[in-house]
Order: sequence, then structure tokens, then C-alpha cells
Amino acid sequence: MLDKVVIANRGEIALRIWRACRELGIKTVAIHSSADRDLKHVRLADESVCIGPPAAAQSYLNIPAVISAAEVTDAMAIHPGYGFLSENADFAEAVDKSGFIFIGPRPETIRLMGDKISAKTTMKKAGIPCVPGSDGPIPENPDDILTLAKDVGYPVIIKAAGGGGGRGMRVVHSEGALLNAVNLTQSEAQAAFGNGTLYMEKFLENPRHIEFQVLADGQGNAIHLGERDCSVQRRHQKVIEEAPAPGITDKMRSKMGERCAKACADIGYRGAGTFEFLFENGQFYFIEMNTRLQVEHPVTELVTGIDIVKEQLLIASGEPLRHRQKDVAIRGHAIECRINAEDAKTFTPSPGKITRYHAPGGPGIRVDSHLYDGYSVPPYYDSMVGKVIAHGVDRASTIARMRTALVEMVVDGINTNIELHRDVLSDAAFQAGGINIHYLEKKLKVDSE
Ligand code: ADP
Repeated sequence: MLDKVVIANRGEIALRIWRACRELGIKTVAIHSSADRDLKHVRLADESVCIGPPAAAQSYLNIPAVISAAEVTDAMAIHPGYGFLSENADFAEAVDKSGFIFIGPRPETIRLMGDKISAKTTMKKAGIPCVPGSDGPIPENPDDILTLAKDVGYPVIIKAAGGGGGRGMRVVHSEGALLNAVNLTQSEAQAAFGNGTLYMEKFLENPRHIEFQVLADGQGNAIHLGERDCSVQRRHQKVIEEAPAPGITDKMRSKMGERCAKACADIGYRGAGTFEFLFENGQFYFIEMNTRLQVEHPVTELVTGIDIVKEQLLIASGEPLRHRQKDVAIRGHAIECRINAEDAKTFTPSPGKITRYHAPGGPGIRVDSHLYDGYSVPPYYDSMVGKVIAHGVDRASTIARMRTALVEMVVDGINTNIELHRDVLSDAAFQAGGINIHYLEKKLKVDSE
């Protein structure tokens, strides 16, 4: 068993990891920037180390500083959370080489999945359905690019192999715009990711975003924990997530989930992971794999009863997977609302001091947040300050529970998007279920007119 873990993250996810470690009797080291001394988990951890100034590049993204913190505190493993260094293969490798355990997949796996072309090729080989497209990098010759797009069929989307965070992609509707779009995307990708390699996919017009959670022990055992629907998005950022996805039958879940689990076993995957799909006209199309814990993991935890962070810690300590696929059952429904420190209408970030904080409670309500009365949200990082997650016997009662929680919740001193969540949860289209990824932006446009 791991005896001491460095929590290489901040905010709600650092607190989440602290809680899991604590339950398992694992000691914790909180590493933080100078702006984050007052984070809840920093105060609660057994030890804390300030690793640099506020700018993430000099603290949370500073590989030597993170590893030194593990060395001076004599820790055994490092949990990267999400974002920051969590999908950085060089970091995972540096952790290994320094004699610590990286809580996540092997560096080679992160590298393989970090390149979207190699990820797609690997998954296609493992029997995972992918969006039709270039099957590898797009050709160099302009005539060949034009022919390829004609074969794929317009509209197409040009994507960077090294892209991420919704950046490095461009939709093309007609032949006349294609070559210019390729050139632009290529120079942007080169500048942003240091890799100008592009690929092409059919652009799906009205898909839903549905993803499968997997757990694998790197010893040949892999299971899936069902799917999540994350179609409520703004600028490719998820806002509300739920499990299970409306309309996905047990049969569809088993079929796709088992393929994902088998793909993990095939590539010797270790840890928690997520297969992201676009879902349109009853078909799943793989777009990418995230080789880390996701923000939205709690909805899966609530419907399966499996603590994903504890499983990550146990897998990292070398234990074989303790759950069998046949024992995984989906019970009821769960919805998560991401609470952001931002204006509910303009989305401008809203850092500042929390003057009053009341978390919602009651049956089936879970709050993952580092907020407390008097805490100051710093301006340097992502605006998400917590998540409210509701669990109920079915979707309708879960929505009712979430609506109650959002009325009960008070966060004063900063602006939040709580009002936006109330709007969405009382919207008939959301309540009907099965909305696509354009739903929220369309709704915001209509509401503002
Ligand atoms: P990133 O790693 O930057 O998040 P993804 O490949 O996961 O990139 O794509 C992000 C989002 O872009 C998707 O959730 C979807 O909204 C849109 N997208 C990507 N590929 C396609 C496609 N082939 N058709 C339609 N939308 C797409």
C-alpha cells in the first residue's frame, strides 16, 4: 500500500484526492503555489510545500519543483489530478525515473493517447468505432487533400494531432475553403502545440457527447463503469454532466463499454481512463481518450457505488482490480453542475473573497468544493470552484433534487453560474433528455435576444 502521496493539483480535486487518501490511511503532501496557501486541502494535509509563485508555469506545471517536493517529503507516489501535468508523458516519465509512482497510466500509454492520430489508429485496431476520416495524417499534396475531403464528404473538420482543450480544429463546409483552412490550422497547431500534423474527420452536425469510464490494473484486468452524457457544453467546455446517458439501453452500454474495457486490456492500460465519443443517429464515434481522472467522475461514482479515486490509489499500489464487470450495476441517475466563479450571463471570471457560503445538503446531494467562508478565489487559475452532484432513483427525481440544491446554495462575494444551472434544469428541452452539444449555446443565444 502507498504510505505517502503528493497531491500535485489544487482546488476541489486536490481536496477530493486528500479525502480518498485519508480514508485509505495514506499520508498526504499538499504542494501549492504562493497564491494557494489557504486552500482547504493545504490546511488539512499532513505536510505542505510551497513550490513556486502564482503563475502555473512556475508552480503546478514546474516538473522539477513537483518532483523535488516529493523528494524532500520522502513521498512514495504522485497524484496529478486533472489538467496541469496529468496528461504530460514527460512528467510521468520523470516521476518514474526519480523513483516515485505516477498515479496514472504508463508514460508510453499517455504518449500514445496524447497524439490523436495514434490514439485513433490504436482504437480502430482494437475494434472501437471512430469518426470516418483520413486514417492518419492528411496528405501533403493539395490535390490529394481535396480528393480526401470529397471522399469523406463535406462538412469536414481539420484537427491537430497534438490538439487539446477544444483548440486546433476548423470546420470546412465547401471545397473552396478547404486548402486555406488546412494552412491556417497547420500554422496555428505548429505554434500552439509544436506539432503541425493534421488529420481530417467527417464533421458530425448534431452529435451528443457520451463517454465511457474505464478502470484497468495494468495486469490484464479491465472493466467499464458505464457512460456519462456531457452534451451541455459552452465553447467545448462541459457545464453539466449526467449518468447514465438518456436513451442508452443496457444492451448499447454493455456492447460499447465492453469494447472499451477490452481495448484497455489489449494495450495494458493502467488506472482510470475515459473514452470520449460523439453519438449521432444511434452510432458511437470515438474522438479521444483521456488518460486521467475527469472532473465529472462523481456522477459515475454515485450510480455505481465505486470510488474511482480510491481505485486509482489501489491500482497504483499494485493491487489487482477488486471489482468484476458482472458486479457493476447502474443504480438510479446522477447529475453534476459545475459551479464556476464567473458571471452567469457574460461568463467573465469573478475571483474574490467569499463573504458567505452555504453548501446545499439533504438526501442524494454531494458537494465537491474547496470553498469556505472567507476564502479568496485567486484570479490565476481555472474558474471552477466546485461541483454539486445529485443522485436519485430516476432522472426526473434527480433533476428535482438538483433544483432544490441550487436554490439552497449560497455563494456570496463573487459571481457564479448557479443561475445558469437553474435555467437549464428548468428548461423543457433539458428535462426531456438527449439534447446535443449545441443545445446550451443555442439556448444562450435565444435567451439573450
Ligand atoms: P479536444 O481534445 O481539444 O477536447 P476533441 O477531439 O475531444 O478535442 O473535440 C472537442 C470537441 O470538438 C468535441 O466535443 C466536439 O464538440 C467537437 N468535435 C470534434 N470532432 C468533431 C467531429 N468530427 N464532428 C463534430 N464535432 C466535433
